[in-house]
Amino acid sequence: MVKENLVKVEENIQKACQKAGRDRSEVTLIAVSKTKPIEMMEESIEAGVNTFGENKVQEIVKKHPDLPEDTHWHMIGHLQRNKVKNLPGLVEMIHSVDSVRLAKEIQKEYAKNDEVANILIEVNVAKEESKFGFMPEEVENALREIATFPNISVKGLMTIAPYVDDPEKNRQHFVNLRKLLVDINGKNIDNINMRELSMGMTGDYEVAIEEGATFVRVGTGIFGSREYH
Ligand SMILES: *Cc1c(COP(=O)(O)O)cnc(C)c1O
Repeated sequence: MVKENLVKVEENIQKACQKAGRDRSEVTLIAVSKTKPIEMMEESIEAGVNTFGENKVQEIVKKHPDLPEDTHWHMIGHLQRNKVKNLPGLVEMIHSVDSVRLAKEIQKEYAKNDEVANILIEVNVAKEESKFGFMPEEVENALREIATFPNISVKGLMTIAPYVDDPEKNRQHFVNLRKLLVDINGKNIDNINMRELSMGMTGDYEVAIEEGATFVRVGTGIFGSREYH
């Protein structure tokens, strides 16, 4: 099932790239494997997709030894400060930096390990009450501070768009995230030159790609629906 789903998702990604006049290589598919077993992840790897998104540090720690060394791990979920110490050497990117306090903790732990953390700033672009992330108007000031942290490299912005029945309803949010990135890059803040936009999930990744996504995070569309215990 995973293989068939991946074929379909890949087709959709290519179509969206074509429609937007973008090169397929500009978009990285992250297979969101949270709650899913190693066997399904191995199936994904066999089908050519070895970049995974998880939302719990413990789950990455647990799964990591069971998959090949060259597997790519992305932390995409809300991150508690007391879990940051497990991340150096484990994940390629942290998508969900939603406070300066969290960034400070990342700075501290990565400095201890003499590593640089690649991060994205999570933006609550639709201003939903229930969501984590900076409000769009807070991002610039937060970045001015985080940009001074030597063990953090800010690569771009991330958003979790609202759950909607029609993906078109999220198009404007994706447009706004991209505008925010361009706008902030234009301010020439030292150490800030963002290129990545992590946006789009199973319900809306094609629209997100049309609006400039460089990472799409697809879970259900690859691994099927999730059961939480
Ligand atoms: C679970 C999750 C996804 C994937 O959601 P689907 O709708 O299953 O594709 C993407 N991003 C984040 C941050 C998630 O937590």
